[in-house]
Amino acid sequence: MRTDRTFTMLKPDSVEKGHIGAILEKITASGFRIVAMKLTQMTKADAEAFYAIHNERPFFGELVTYMTRGPIVAAILEKNNAVEDFRTLIGATNPADAAEGTIRKLYAASIGENAVHGSDSDENAAIEGAFHFSGREMF
Ligand code: UDP
Ligand code: MG
Repeated sequence: MRTDRTFTMLKPDSVEKGHIGAILEKITASGFRIVAMKLTQMTKADAEAFYAIHNERPFFGELVTYMTRGPIVAAILEKNNAVEDFRTLIGATNPADAAEGTIRKLYAASIGENAVHGSDSDENAAIEGAFHFSGREMF
């Protein structure tokens, strides 16, 4: 299992607010190389499958509605220690708890609408990357 890649989504709120450029600049300036990237929109079935681990949680319905309401930017990122370093760069799930300078501190509105996704393990990074990209879309 490679430890140098992670998967991210700039969530619908980031796209709606015009934050794609600023967030990508922060990501690349932090040493991540973009391996794959696209603007896409998740269907209800996509979001339910992607977030299946949370399907018993009280916020699941809202999460699916939020994640499907508009386009996202999906990307695979490469860097030494990518998963852990990217979680540090995005900050805590709740922006109120996120460290200064993190992407969620800067751009997230709430624990629900929190601007970006970051994989939580190498295994999930590989699964989530393959969910959105074919091998020929990865560079
Ligand atoms: N979420 C929510 N309410 C919560 C916790 C999470 O709406 O109380 C949403 C939020 O968009 C979060 C996503 O569900 O990013 C997945 O939750 P997780 O705990 O995996 O947080 P993450 O890994 O994104 O920090
Ligand atoms: Mg998570």
